[in-house]
Amino acid sequence: MEEVDCIVAGAGVVGLAVARALALAGREVLILEKAASFGTETSARNSEVIHAGIYYPQGSLMARFCVAGRRALYAYLTERGLPHKRCGKLIVATNAAELDQLGGIRARAAANGVDDLEPLTAAQAQALEPALACTGALLSPSTGIIDSHAYMLSLLGEAEAHGATLVCNTPVVGGRVSGQGIEIEAGGAEPMALRARLFINAAGLGAPALARRIEGLPLERIPGTWWAKGNYFTLAGRSPFSRLIYPVPVPGGLGTHLTLDLARQARFGPDVEWVEEIDYQVDPRRGESFTAAIRRYWPDLPSGALQPAYSGVRPKIVPPGAPGQDFVIEGPSQHGVAGVVNLFGIESPGLTSSLAIGGYVAGVAG
Ligand SMILES: Cc1cc2nc3c(=O)[nH]c(=O)nc-3n(C[C@H](O)[C@H](O)[C@H](O)COP(=O)(O)OP(=O)(O)OC[C@H]3O[C@@H](n4cnc5c(N)ncnc54)[C@H](O)[C@@H]3O)c2cc1C
Repeated sequence: MEEVDCIVAGAGVVGLAVARALALAGREVLILEKAASFGTETSARNSEVIHAGIYYPQGSLMARFCVAGRRALYAYLTERGLPHKRCGKLIVATNAAELDQLGGIRARAAANGVDDLEPLTAAQAQALEPALACTGALLSPSTGIIDSHAYMLSLLGEAEAHGATLVCNTPVVGGRVSGQGIEIEAGGAEPMALRARLFINAAGLGAPALARRIEGLPLERIPGTWWAKGNYFTLAGRSPFSRLIYPVPVPGGLGTHLTLDLARQARFGPDVEWVEEIDYQVDPRRGESFTAAIRRYWPDLPSGALQPAYSGVRPKIVPPGAPGQDFVIEGPSQHGVAGVVNLFGIESPGLTSSLAIGGYVAGVAG
């Protein structure tokens, strides 16, 4: 059986960031990816927002990794001249009750170390964004947008420059914990068996299922799988906004918000649609509920301007209605098995957090 130091299953943004961190630390890394290329799943189907770290519970991994990851990410992108823009975001209240909530959002953000939120009157917000209707807002200057593919390409390039290898069309189909390391079975056109000192499960939506196929991992440490699809609609024509616009969050979600890509194309979403199977098609009828929600903060949204765009699926590890989940990163000190790290439930803000997660996993992996 061929021996390798580290195997990373999954070449999404998280797997690539982990692989890069391990390679930079001098480890030999093999990345096994089931798809034909890296970064084609959730890492290619998201809002590409660099989140500030505002809403997450204080002390959660999401709060910690988002704030640390965001700082690291801006530095990384700036140093390498990679495409991104610190465009800022407005959290907008559209009635008195929502206006009352802005103070609480600001306090929660400050508890997470996000102390740059600026309260704005309606007039101040409208001076920044004339198309906006609101009763008041918070400006988050450190929120931004990123070209996630260019970023992933850079992570992969640096990992490879430090000796890592990516093998595509090669799913990890199973394995077992043995006395000599972790035995991994890889499928694809040329199935192979490998033995690794360290196995990182960064399989995104498939991470819990993959963990269940590694014999010797305690099953009670592996969460269930639920999928929450998020649908996007794009705006036909030019965006009247130059910042991201988020309504005050509603229970269970961030509301129908507007994000921009680097070409200033506006998109709305993602909504929340619990699904049993993954089908990335967007049902055009879902656009109806978007229109009413958007007109609360943009009354002049033209009729018929929304076009079904794309969707992504959140890798949930708790069922619908359950309190929000945190990232779950399980290493030897959690599940008791040396040489295995599982990453579960890495939904938003996983892209923003990726460098922080990479550094953390390389640290706990041993
Ligand atoms: C709708 C939506 C919007 C989001 N918006 C944002 C945002 O604006 N900002 C932000 O910070 N985060 C955002 N996120 C979160 C972010 O996209 C994810 O946290 C991040 O992309 C997760 O990366 P990953 O590498 O864990 O997963 P993935 O990108 O899904 O990568 C996992 C990889 O593993 C591979 N794989 C699966 N099974 C196997 C196997 N058995 N063997 C080998 N390979 C396997 C898959 O093919 C895939 O390439 C959003 C998420 C969603 C769903």
